[in-house]
Amino acid sequence: MKNIIFIAPPAAGKGTQSKLISTEYNIPHISTGDLLRDEIKSGSILGKELQKVIDEGKLVSNDIIVKLLRERISRVDCNDGYILDGYPRNIEQATIYKDLLSELKKDIGVVIFMDIDKELALSRTENRLICSFCGASYNTSVAELSPAIEGICDKCGHTLRARTDDNKETFLNRFNTYLIETSPLIDYYNNLGILRIIKVNENDSAQDIFNEIKKIIN
Ligand SMILES: [Zn+2]
Repeated sequence: MKNIIFIAPPAAGKGTQSKLISTEYNIPHISTGDLLRDEIKSGSILGKELQKVIDEGKLVSNDIIVKLLRERISRVDCNDGYILDGYPRNIEQATIYKDLLSELKKDIGVVIFMDIDKELALSRTENRLICSFCGASYNTSVAELSPAIEGICDKCGHTLRARTDDNKETFLNRFNTYLIETSPLIDYYNNLGILRIIKVNENDSAQDIFNEIKKIIN
């Protein structure tokens, strides 16, 4: 099993695919966002510092993220591989991550780039719904992610609503940040010979994409 880095613009379906891979191959799905949230929840001294940084609207430093990441990928459940979601986000972080792997004598593995057109990503964003009660997420532009009854959660029967951060302006901001900061990683990893590309087309189901990913992993 290999370590997997996921690169994708917003709304490509990276979260869904990460979960599918994690279940199929029984390897942890590591998101730096979750690592930060868990640290805050733990109430540790570092967690309290992090809460302060976030409350002040500042960015969490690379030093802190790499500290949490070092601890996480050193655990035994990562020995057979893991999926890294949301990191690295830029060339600076990619360099730091490469050094971390050499230090831990771990293999960088494979980088999966989910390529999706901006227009398709936007339309998927605008069709995302979340349950106001249990937090389950849906997407009416993808058949298998649509609720059985329009506007109603399959799991708990409560009303679905759009996510507050799923408006066009927020999407375009995130997409542009991605283009400026994250897309240079595609060349960076391609030059290392470990980049694999999956094109996300309008009619692709989550399962279609997952089948492509399985071919890469196997
Ligand atoms: Zn629900």
